[in-house]
Amino acid sequence: MKVYISVDMEGITGVAVKAQVVEGHAAYERARRFMTNDINAAVAGAFDAGATEVVVNDGHFTMTNILLEDLDPRARLITGRNKHLAQMEGLDSSYAAVFYVGYHASVGTANAVINHTYLGKAVREIRRNGRAASEAEINSGIAGHFGVPIALITGDDKAVAEATAVLGNIESVVVKRGLDRYVANTLTLQASAVLIREAAQRALKRVKEFPVPRVPSPVTFEIDFMSTAEAAITTLFPTVELRGPRTVAVTDHDYLKAFKALYGCLVLGNTVADEIFG
Ligand SMILES: [Zn+2]
Repeated sequence: MKVYISVDMEGITGVAVKAQVVEGHAAYERARRFMTNDINAAVAGAFDAGATEVVVNDGHFTMTNILLEDLDPRARLITGRNKHLAQMEGLDSSYAAVFYVGYHASVGTANAVINHTYLGKAVREIRRNGRAASEAEINSGIAGHFGVPIALITGDDKAVAEATAVLGNIESVVVKRGLDRYVANTLTLQASAVLIREAAQRALKRVKEFPVPRVPSPVTFEIDFMSTAEAAITTLFPTVELRGPRTVAVTDHDYLKAFKALYGCLVLGNTVADEIFG
């Protein structure tokens, strides 16, 4: 039984502020240890419940955050970028389950720790088939494409509530409560590790209960960028449709192609995002 663990950083135990999730800060170096601690708990729970192989994908920013030297030696790590499937790179139909570790709520979610959707400064909202969607929800369509269920999510209370509202009664661990975009009431590392390990075990025991999150075809992603410049530059791609001064859309019958088009728009749009004007 193979398990795939998709990891982000903003929903990790103890993480609340920007200095913890951006390279070059002392707080970041500590937060990398927090991240590896949460992951190791999920890896341990997976092996407790009969996993034979666990692959961890580092999905935050530089995608080189996880401390390999401290990672459970039974796991393998997908590290570095660029990855065309981003936080789901390397997933295929051979896996029995996906775990989300350290996930965060979508941009604009009240009191959700470092709430954003893919790009902190350039994206105001992303909609999938007309409805605002989080990274957890958008990534779940990739799992659905490969026929793999999402079995576990860890993050703050808002991220867990948002994801379970669309993914159903999957296993979850609230590792902190969001009090503001940059304030959390957090569990300790040891306390959350116990909860994550237990939830990971239950997730694999219950895995047959969880639906595969398939998305009806065709799928359309709409991006509301923060500025007109970001939207305009993405129309260099001929399949990108400008739907408003700041809004673009991509559509495809194949979820992976639609996701890659979305991701391409985000990568390109971000290159013209301005530090002050957005
Ligand atoms: Zn992140």
